[in-house]
Amino acid sequence: MKNKIVNRIYNDYFMSSRMDEYEKLLKTFLDNGYEFLMIRDYKKNINKNKKVIFIRHDIDSDVQIAREMFLIEKKLNIKTTYYFRLETFTQDLVSEILSYGSEVGYHYEELATFVKENKIYKKEDVLNSMTKIQDMLISNIKMLEEHYNFKITSIASHGDFMNRKLGITNTVIYDNSLRKKLKLIEAYDLDDCVDFRTSDTMYPKFFKEDPYLAISKKAKKVLLLIHTRYYKRNPKERFKLDVKRFIDSIKYYKINK
Ligand SMILES: [Zn+2]
Repeated sequence: MKNKIVNRIYNDYFMSSRMDEYEKLLKTFLDNGYEFLMIRDYKKNINKNKKVIFIRHDIDSDVQIAREMFLIEKKLNIKTTYYFRLETFTQDLVSEILSYGSEVGYHYEELATFVKENKIYKKEDVLNSMTKIQDMLISNIKMLEEHYNFKITSIASHGDFMNRKLGITNTVIYDNSLRKKLKLIEAYDLDDCVDFRTSDTMYPKFFKEDPYLAISKKAKKVLLLIHTRYYKRNPKERFKLDVKRFIDSIKYYKINK
């Protein structure tokens, strides 16, 4: 536990940029014959023998770091997918990504937001409010599409501490009926079609499973989940997030599963 906190402080407040490592990772996949695809392309007829990789960015924070990653990808001429939360959707970056031709999607968290705003902490009460929560998701998607003038093709669920407390993920909102209505890809749909999936994590490990293993294992369909936080310190923003987390932990301390 103590180590975890020390690592987290180092990661968020002191760690120098790891953008070179990110670039090297992308280049290595390119050099090994992988084609970069966006999440929205996953249903296209991909040749069974072709090696493809999907990069999914969950922009939970640090829009500036996301921009640096985007510029590296642009330099390497590759396309990836960016999921922004309501609080990280940013005009300049979203417009740049869209005009380059990479995918922008919505990192949704309406269930957690609804719970916090309405102070409904019982699992069954939350599940009973599902229609209201789904309506929130529908209207937020519509608002984003109108404001940023583009069509959202895929969405990805964000995991808030509230979801862990309640024992309900945000994905439950996107049930079959809503799926029929919105016809959007949920990024988790890809899990069934990839043969190698990993996600980045905190210093010093940096990846849950080493992404280079995909290459040595000759994986054909690879999915990497990337978060800005693990690539560079950002003291100002991380401090704000730490304060928010601390306040939330006091505010919602009564809630148990
Ligand atoms: Zn997230």
